[in-house]
Amino acid sequence: MCGIVGYLGPQQAAPIIVNGLKRLEYRGYDSAGVCIVAEDTLRIGKQAGKVANLERDVNPAAIPGTLGIGHTRWATHGLPNDVNAHPHTNADGTIAMVHNGIIENYLTIKKKLLNAGYTFRSETDTEVLVVFIGMLYQQLGDLELAVRTALHEVEGTFGIVVVSTHEPDTMIAARRGSPLVLGIGQQEFIIASDASAIISHTRQVIYLHDNEMAVVHRNGSFTTKTIGNEKTHNAIQEIEFELDAIEKGGFEHFMLKEIYEQPNTFRDGFRGRLQPSEGNVRLGGLSSVADKLRTAKRIIITACGTSWHAGLVGEYLLEQFARIPVEVEYASEFRYRNPIIDADDIVIAISQSGETADTLAAIREAKMKGATVIGMVNVVGSTIARETDAGVYLHAGPEIGVASTKAFTSQLCVLTQFALYVGRMRGLPAAEGRQIAEALEAIPDRMHRILEQADGIREIALAYANATNFLYLGRGYNFPVALEGALKLKEISYIHAEGYPAAEMKHGPIALIDANMPVVFIATRDEIYDKVLSNIEEVRARNGRVIAIANEGDEHIAAVANHVIAIPETHPALTPILASIPLQLLAYYIAVERGCNVDMPRNLAKSVTVE
Ligand code: GLU
Repeated sequence: MCGIVGYLGPQQAAPIIVNGLKRLEYRGYDSAGVCIVAEDTLRIGKQAGKVANLERDVNPAAIPGTLGIGHTRWATHGLPNDVNAHPHTNADGTIAMVHNGIIENYLTIKKKLLNAGYTFRSETDTEVLVVFIGMLYQQLGDLELAVRTALHEVEGTFGIVVVSTHEPDTMIAARRGSPLVLGIGQQEFIIASDASAIISHTRQVIYLHDNEMAVVHRNGSFTTKTIGNEKTHNAIQEIEFELDAIEKGGFEHFMLKEIYEQPNTFRDGFRGRLQPSEGNVRLGGLSSVADKLRTAKRIIITACGTSWHAGLVGEYLLEQFARIPVEVEYASEFRYRNPIIDADDIVIAISQSGETADTLAAIREAKMKGATVIGMVNVVGSTIARETDAGVYLHAGPEIGVASTKAFTSQLCVLTQFALYVGRMRGLPAAEGRQIAEALEAIPDRMHRILEQADGIREIALAYANATNFLYLGRGYNFPVALEGALKLKEISYIHAEGYPAAEMKHGPIALIDANMPVVFIATRDEIYDKVLSNIEEVRARNGRVIAIANEGDEHIAAVANHVIAIPETHPALTPILASIPLQLLAYYIAVERGCNVDMPRNLAKSVTVE
């Protein structure tokens, strides 16, 4: 959450920072601001709302100077107004800071500072920290030392970048819990929350670790060290993706682009891994834990939001193919209820960003209790990727749309392969393995067949764009799809939607059904198809409007549903992958029709790095 950029080098800093903020805006968009160190003053432009508003009203890119910082905020402490916008400054306006995260003990520090006579302009926790750094600078006369000393007292999470008129040739960054990447160019540095703000300058980056800081100088030298002042030696890495991966490429929204990318991103998820002829899969990142997987008594999957839905599908897959008991836990609940975990347990953390605060906390809890922890994340080099014992990357490429789409199908791709991998070592016959592997290989072409129906899905969306409630129903493998379909609609169109197991409908939600209630059924041909068909009849008998996701050529469903979206047949366990795509498109077109900002839905932000 929140985007941070800092620049030090020979070029004008402000335009680079503003462009970086635009790249990072998907991380938070409550307010935006820039601070440039100009001669012996700090020049700040900041304002509530999007970066575009800041550009229009403040034109920060025109502020001259070659050192500066910028921020797009996702408010945690204080309203998203101009005053609370970052950057914040110390008492005499000589030190400026941007911050991602939460200073949990800010009230204690604030009290001390108030007692010492300091005053505050904003309601943020961030201002407290920079004022504190300013006070320490007065005493110590050294910016880095002041930052380090302050951070020792801080509880909570932070990614910060600090600049000052006192040291106009230095930029200082530090992190605990919030990601920071240092880009290293020709005599220039750009620090940002993620690589998307850096790639147009340099591909050479260092991913800062927790409790680590970077101090960079105008002469091109830099050091990384712990907040405790011990030097660290991080390898310089190369950004893996291309610039076009973070551009819209002719699509109206990132979300739509990402929906259409799925045949490719899905293929990237199994390329080089799947071995259809052997009915198996090679997952190099798991070789160190293969023995554990062979003997594990239980798997716990922990995640949040869409990743949690993927985890539910993973439960069904693993229990079916590997015959191992699986529990799926909300990461936020898992960590606070003293879960029973032992050394024979495998804990899987699923997270697109690899930075989700709750998921990270959950794996730390699991590790502490001796479990083997496996990560399934998209962002290479992210904290979860680093802190897990082993892992499988999603390879979906950068996901910019706040509502996850391609990362979800890639999570299912990886989970299916994981279930196949563990299944084969625990007795799944090769013939069954081959069927699964072949079905996975065929998915990208089948996805194309669904995407070709976008116009028809759009027409259905237009007919229901004014609905105030939606119900999504599915059974078995399609129950998590119902949950995910409802979440997608809520996130981007602000229509209230609920997902339920179809049979549970009779235990409550059926009371809601009338002629104004659209009900989306995922009703593909599987073992419980007939039961779902009856559930559809029950909705129709109460005048509910039925939108059915059914298999191609299904005349029974066509006869009872008001609308049918056809998806190709596949292995029943892979149905969620295909069934989720029309639901993504349905939510997308409804949201567009309602005039919603699809890529930046209100109150949400990509990558939830606060608890
Ligand atoms: N806690 C800080 C604030 O509310 C930073 C939030 C963010 O990460 O954007 O301003």
